[in-house]
Amino acid sequence: HAKALGRNRSCRYSEALSAHKSSQLSLEQDLRDAVENEEFSLEYQGQFRPGEDKPRRVETLIRWPHDERGQISPHEFIPLAESSGLIRELGFWVLRRACAEFMRWRQNGLLLEKIAVNVSAMQINSRFADTVEAIMKESDFQPEWLELEVTESLMMSGMTEVNNQIHQLRALGVEFSIDDFGTGYSSLSKLKEMPVSVLKIDRSFVRNIHDQDNDYEIARAIVAMASSLNIQVVAEGVENDEQGKTLSDLGCQWLQGFRYARPMAGDDFLRQYS
Ligand code: C2E
Ligand code: MG
Ligand code: MG
Ligand code: MG
Repeated sequence: HAKALGRNRSCRYSEALSAHKSSQLSLEQDLRDAVENEEFSLEYQGQFRPGEDKPRRVETLIRWPHDERGQISPHEFIPLAESSGLIRELGFWVLRRACAEFMRWRQNGLLLEKIAVNVSAMQINSRFADTVEAIMKESDFQPEWLELEVTESLMMSGMTEVNNQIHQLRALGVEFSIDDFGTGYSSLSKLKEMPVSVLKIDRSFVRNIHDQDNDYEIARAIVAMASSLNIQVVAEGVENDEQGKTLSDLGCQWLQGFRYARPMAGDDFLRQYS
């Protein structure tokens, strides 16, 4: 009896496992089709100086409205795009769209300092910088307007190819920020050598900044360290005034989060801020 039960259970387990696998497979196929048919859209979330109500900078966030499943979170489909190799094509699509939108805003009188675009490590190969440069040229977009958000592990990888690509873009004037800062394991001495203009304090520290003493201390240490290295700090995920005040009192130059603006379509962004 016990044996039968066990067999039953493992059978159900493997059914569940293969159901999961096949749903991932079909999602990957959907993703492939969606890349081909450009079924994605972009949203833009402002970054604000403390006390200002118009953003000077903006982050680009991809959206995938799936026919049957509704919006699928980038936390779900970006890893799939990475593992399937689709991220390169998708990443350049995002960049091309973001540059074009930024130029359209300018033509309509909305002049921002910078637009940030998320980049995953898998996107970096020997042609990365050349392609980014070509995309900027297509729309007369100036390299100084672009900031690429990368992860700590990418910045710290030490890989020659990654360094070459980053330095080629830095030489053009493109800047780099480290996203979700504090969740990885950056070494301070390495950070000093990195061509990084901005650190983005991870949302988890912002969320608990008043509840847990060490999250406040971590945020404080990040801002202090950044300022001694001449690096600016963006706080992500700021949801209320108390969090914003604490962070700006610490010396954080930029605030981003639902308290100030939700991510929104490019048309809405232009209408709201021009
Ligand atoms: P991220 O780059 O750290 O982006 C911030 C995420 O926090 C976004 O989620 C944003 O909508 C959300 N957020 C902003 N303010 C608040 C807030 O006040 N409270 C809360 N709870 N959340 C807030 P989203 O758009 O779902 O993106 C998730 C992640 O997916 C991004 O995290 C980024 O790692 C990745 N991602 C998004 N777009 C792209 C892209 O074009 N390329 C790549 N490679 N990754 C992307
Ligand atoms: Mg980001
Ligand atoms: Mg982030
Ligand atoms: Mg994040």
